[in-house]
Amino acid sequence: MDKCRSCGAEIIWVKMQSGRNNPLDAKPTDKGNIDVRDGVGYVISKKQRVMFVSPLYQTHFATCPHAREWRWREDGENESEHAGAEA
Ligand SMILES: [Zn+2]
Repeated sequence: MDKCRSCGAEIIWVKMQSGRNNPLDAKPTDKGNIDVRDGVGYVISKKQRVMFVSPLYQTHFATCPHAREWRWREDGENESEHAGAEA
């Protein structure tokens, strides 16, 4: 389990289907739209969402109070630095 460096919330890192790493809130919620299977995250569209009865994960970008400060990293710049700095 990792912690967000900005706000201290518990997060998990998953590799998305696109190959990009994405920090997710550690607890799935009813508002979530990301299904994690075998360690890979899949974005679930609204249409598909109805097929999932259980809560799904939500990207921490959506809930982090400090997301604005680090959102630009989402595109991969400094990604490894961000992912690895949580010791
Ligand atoms: Zn945060």
